[in-house]
Amino acid sequence: MLPTLLIILWALVMIALERRFPYQRQPFLRREFWTDLFWFSTVFSVLMGFLAARFIIPAIDQVTGWSATRGIREWPLWSQVLVSLLTHDLFIYLFHRAMHVNRYLWRLHEAHHSTPDVDWIGGSRGHVFENLITGTAELAPIVLFMSPEVAAIKSVIDACWGMWIHANIDWDMGKLKYVINGPYMHRWHHAREVHDVNFATKFSFWDWLLGTAYLPDRKPESYGLDVDWPQNIVVQQAFAFRRFQPKAVLRPRGPEEAARLHRGDPEFVGPAEAYRRRMQPEVVEPRQQERSIAA
Ligand SMILES: [Zn+2]
Ligand SMILES: [Zn+2]
Repeated sequence: MLPTLLIILWALVMIALERRFPYQRQPFLRREFWTDLFWFSTVFSVLMGFLAARFIIPAIDQVTGWSATRGIREWPLWSQVLVSLLTHDLFIYLFHRAMHVNRYLWRLHEAHHSTPDVDWIGGSRGHVFENLITGTAELAPIVLFMSPEVAAIKSVIDACWGMWIHANIDWDMGKLKYVINGPYMHRWHHAREVHDVNFATKFSFWDWLLGTAYLPDRKPESYGLDVDWPQNIVVQQAFAFRRFQPKAVLRPRGPEEAARLHRGDPEFVGPAEAYRRRMQPEVVEPRQQERSIAA
């Protein structure tokens, strides 16, 4: 009960800050608001948590017997939470990056990028399979090696942090942005024009250390996908398993597909080259790079 109350309280704080300090102008009841609130934030998250806790993790335990070990249950609670935060965040950073590179994994991840209006609740979007994988990867080490309280504490931290990084709040965070992730960085991750940057969830230092941080001195023009995203909740989930048809995808995925679509176009550079250029913005945008370092 207390975790739910804390999450609701945090949601109200986020909503109030969005209204008072909007990053970009957008209505509170934007497109597919009720889908995100009912299906993604409530039904799917409860269902996936139940499946992981009731079936998948017991199955892992049956094979490995890990829950019989002492794990780190005797450590102070705060240090267990810290271990879970850091290890799961690194896993999510790497898995998230892989989902942006591998075209099959991208199919599971594109649901998260489908909202054209990023806000406090937009980040709850995700394919059920993606949520099942990341949820299990988070919950399994806790159930098998840590105190049960860690799961409750982590569920509150996750929900609140997810709302925060997607929130439509205009705060650049100063130097803190090099450690903690926030809307300025994560909204670029949802930008239609960029996508493949700022993979971190909670700690932004993964991106700054591993060369995937991108924070120009401007705001994205639009968010979402360049595919015709279905409106029906069931079709959205099934959409991940549609046939690969390069011509139906406006934004090419992978160098081969791009080369096929842009054959004969002298201006075209492949996605790998485009990504490399984005990662070295001083070549393309020297003044912006200076400003973002000085900020
Ligand atoms: Zn992503
Ligand atoms: Zn996101």
